[in-house]
Amino acid sequence: MNLHEYQAKELFQRAGIPIAPGIVCATPAEVRAAAAKIGGDVVVKAQVHSGGRGKAGGVKLAKSPEEAEEKAKPILALTIQGLPVRRVLVTRAVDIASEAYVAILVDRAIKRPILMYSAAGGVDIEETAHTNPDAIKKLPIDPQLGLLPYQARRAAQELGLGGKHALAASMLLVRLWEVFKDHDASLAEVNPLVVTGDGEVLALDAKVSVDDNALFRHPDLEAMRDSSDETAGSILAREKGLSYVPLDGDIGCVVNGAGLAMTTMDLVKYHGGEPANFLDIGGSSNPEKVVAAFQIITGDSTVKAILFNIFGGITRCDDVARGILTALDQMKLDVPLVIRLTGTNEELARTLLAERGLTATTSMDEGVKAVIAAAKGGAR
Ligand code: GDP
Ligand code: MN
Repeated sequence: MNLHEYQAKELFQRAGIPIAPGIVCATPAEVRAAAAKIGGDVVVKAQVHSGGRGKAGGVKLAKSPEEAEEKAKPILALTIQGLPVRRVLVTRAVDIASEAYVAILVDRAIKRPILMYSAAGGVDIEETAHTNPDAIKKLPIDPQLGLLPYQARRAAQELGLGGKHALAASMLLVRLWEVFKDHDASLAEVNPLVVTGDGEVLALDAKVSVDDNALFRHPDLEAMRDSSDETAGSILAREKGLSYVPLDGDIGCVVNGAGLAMTTMDLVKYHGGEPANFLDIGGSSNPEKVVAAFQIITGDSTVKAILFNIFGGITRCDDVARGILTALDQMKLDVPLVIRLTGTNEELARTLLAERGLTATTSMDEGVKAVIAAAKGGAR
């Protein structure tokens, strides 16, 4: 789950990381009032779950409350990388002497958190990563020990900071590690980390992503969730406890078990189709979950056919068949449905389905080929 800048800055502030104070606003009038309250020059910043806001015109400096209100209007009308801007953060503008990049994230290759840092901070860090990767340094962090003060000091030095700036930056880095660790984050990024004209070291931007699997122990973070960018399907999947990942293809897949779901997607690809999603309804044959699965998949207008792929182990195929029939009672499907089921009680399942005019194959290859043909407008 991604946090907005203003939310990440709340975590920063609690951890003692210096930030420029700000106020979140939803309308230009609120922006004007906020700018008046903050006083002096301000920055109006789009709050969307996307980087590159500055380049997209989502970050603007203003010298008066009136100017802030005027600049907020186009920002609040922007869509950045497909995400409509609904709120802006108004902060005190700072005078930037230097910009650096620092982030703590999980390096999957070495299976550890790392500190990434670069003196080439600011809006072009992605480009630096491409054109001059050596300008970005990586330091592994021992998860037991955390980011040690000497490591933080060395990183600050390598960022070209000296004296009290280096000390302030190294303290900031250690606190950034605390934020990362205490919130089970997968990313805690500051870009830019700035030294101001007055010699202050500040986190001018903040990005924190929290590991979804750890959210159960962070109710305060769960409360920060902004679902406005999520599709109805993703929200329903989360509410019903289904693992759902939308993809680009047109074949909806409903499968019990993550391994079988992966295999199903592989096989769809192997036979020349494109899966529209990964959807694991779990070991359960609970009709409510089956109904939710159908709702999620049919809510995706790119889906042209649905494959139901069930391996009955503990899950009983007859229960799943009942789930499918209940779901079909509750909703009308307007795309072809192909059912493959095998395992416990498959005969009974097939009988139940046949009573309603539905057939099911036991072969996964057959099912996958049939659903691809159906999606292409061929035989059901
Ligand atoms: P991003 O583009 O989404 O990463 O948004 P940032 O918050 O990083 O802002 C983009 C850029 O706007 C920064 O790299 C700065 O150059 C500039 N910027 C943001 N806040 C201020 C500020 O208070 N003063 C000045 N002078 N520039 C700022
Ligand atoms: Mn930034």
